[in-house]
Amino acid sequence: MKKLGRGMRIKLRFLGAARNVTGSRHLLEANGVKLLVDCGLYQERQFRDRNWDSFPVPPNQIDAVLLTHAHLDHCGLLPKLVREGFSGRIYCTNATAEIAKIILLDSAHIQEEDAEHKRKRHERQGRKGPHGDVPLYNTADAEAVFPLFAPVKYRQTVAIGEGIQATLCDAGHVLGSSMILIDVSRDGEKRTVLFSGDIGRPDRPIVRDPNIPERADYVIIESTYGDRLHKDTGDVKRQMAEVINSTERSGGNVVVPSFALERSQELLYYLSELLGEDAIPHLTVFLDSPMAARITEVFKRHGEMFDAETVEMLRNHRRPFSFPGLRVTSSAAESKTINHIRGTVVIIAGSGMCTGGRVKHHLVNNITRPENTIMFVGYQAVGTLGRTIVDGAKRVRILGEKYPVRAGIAQIRGFSAHADRDELFGWLEKFKEPPRGVFVVHGEADSAVAFGNYVREKAGWRVTVPEYRQEVILD
Ligand SMILES: [Zn+2]
Repeated sequence: MKKLGRGMRIKLRFLGAARNVTGSRHLLEANGVKLLVDCGLYQERQFRDRNWDSFPVPPNQIDAVLLTHAHLDHCGLLPKLVREGFSGRIYCTNATAEIAKIILLDSAHIQEEDAEHKRKRHERQGRKGPHGDVPLYNTADAEAVFPLFAPVKYRQTVAIGEGIQATLCDAGHVLGSSMILIDVSRDGEKRTVLFSGDIGRPDRPIVRDPNIPERADYVIIESTYGDRLHKDTGDVKRQMAEVINSTERSGGNVVVPSFALERSQELLYYLSELLGEDAIPHLTVFLDSPMAARITEVFKRHGEMFDAETVEMLRNHRRPFSFPGLRVTSSAAESKTINHIRGTVVIIAGSGMCTGGRVKHHLVNNITRPENTIMFVGYQAVGTLGRTIVDGAKRVRILGEKYPVRAGIAQIRGFSAHADRDELFGWLEKFKEPPRGVFVVHGEADSAVAFGNYVREKAGWRVTVPEYRQEVILD
């Protein structure tokens, strides 16, 4: 193939999620335009200090941001980018923009609280923290992001600069999630760079299956589960029914620690179906997470993004996210009244790994009684309270007090929102021509390297597992 004209240079810099999972940020420069794909927060403890580093290029020189989805590790550093001078557009689907607003406000609130805790602690200890005990960003910084969102539809192509256009297609990961195709043309030549974002799994509820673009010159692909296969985890809905029915027979409550985005809506969806099938008793279900409640409202407004089964459910006048017996609690006072209810209830509350939020109060009230069940429906990272409980601890510390674990502990494993190794490779394998290069990101180093080797061996393609801040030129 002919070399591109002298003026044509696509430079790609890996500014996050390179040999780790969180902090997704990739800077693409071409035709004199600088584009940032995602601007995520680092969440792993050992990398969190990077959130405070100044951006490698001045934010006011970045022309636009393309946002794959609303998870914090993809959007969570936008408030800092804007405060430091970015004023271009942030292209994403409208659902992503609406959910990102909720998530950024919550994150700002946590940053503010965190800084205040640290300030008090450091004051007692007579020292200063490394970041001056100010929040990474505050509510006003988060709100300053909102006017910059520029919603685009799936498959709608937008011109971003001279010879540069972007197209979003459905990644099937969470509502509104996208893969992003960037076409760069110059002097009659064209290159397509595809950012996979986080890739979902086939046959999950609510969202559609991941799109397969089938052609790109360069592919930047995630590898969260690049070294693992999701075992046959059985029928999630049936397992939920078994836990609820057996807990109801023993007269206890079911407490479900849940993530606010996608997992909570999936739980409501399955509960709605189980009730419709008369597979569980007509219990009271509390959605006791203000953030999950707000995000559920966004879901209700975006039926155009649902998969065929969910559309069919709506057509049959069944509501995927509400049913008789569902109570959405908003105030903390209302949340506390749940403790006084006698008889079995299901309580869905955040946070998903029990690291904060209202679920901690529900654990205090329920974990010491054998008739109750704590039902885990998501990944529990090492070092979190959730992980300690699923690992079988006999006593746990919650909100400063020790409690014996006497409740039943159930874990439903089939909920993952990320493709496994074979599903990731299956997606790549459908490309009609081999890409000129594949870059593996968004996975722990072991997982990213293992997936890189797998693709190299199976397909014989050129694969790179970039290092943090590595720069490459795409020709
Ligand atoms: Zn994600």
